[in-house]
Amino acid sequence: MSNSPINTDNSAHTVAVLAVQGAFLEHRLMLEKLGARVIELRQARDLEQSFDRLVLPGGESTVQAKLLREQNMLEPLRERISGGMPVLGTCAGLILLAKNVEGNEVNGFGTLDVTVKRNAYGRQLGSFHCDANFGNLGAVPMTFIRAPYIAEVGSNAETLATVGGHVVAARQGNQIGTSFHPELDSDTRIHQLFLNL
Ligand code: GLN
Repeated sequence: MSNSPINTDNSAHTVAVLAVQGAFLEHRLMLEKLGARVIELRQARDLEQSFDRLVLPGGESTVQAKLLREQNMLEPLRERISGGMPVLGTCAGLILLAKNVEGNEVNGFGTLDVTVKRNAYGRQLGSFHCDANFGNLGAVPMTFIRAPYIAEVGSNAETLATVGGHVVAARQGNQIGTSFHPELDSDTRIHQLFLNL
């Protein structure tokens, strides 16, 4: 299996990366390495540019949800996600996509039929790295930072990856959510999979 896809032309894709807070730069660099165009979303007028997919990066989901609401980006983006625009949410981004968040009111998009538990690995195991199978990609490197896990996968979503008995990635149509940070490793296959949606 090829780590850096050859013969894949991603130049037709424009990816909007949510850039109100968190680790958006690493996504940008990885997507540009794959040849995609990238724009950053900070305020409502950024939505006027044309883009065909969305990345929700890691960071602090409560802060991101608050800023999305304050900047009037939450509803327009929710509509586009509901309408089928491909979206990749990593860590806090997964929490923003989740329909349910255990014990918390994050009030993000709520479009992905999963229940997530925030900071699920506790202090001891706050950050860790492993390799595990992801969909039909085989084993991919996974970096977890104060990560959530998916406590429940609803009937509209499917499990993509499991680590230590916990679901760490799920998909529903064109929405992919991961507990971990694929943008922090050099393996580009998850971003390529997202660009292929
Ligand atoms: N702990 C963060 C949250 O709950 C997520 C951590 C991350 O995105 N690396 O929003």
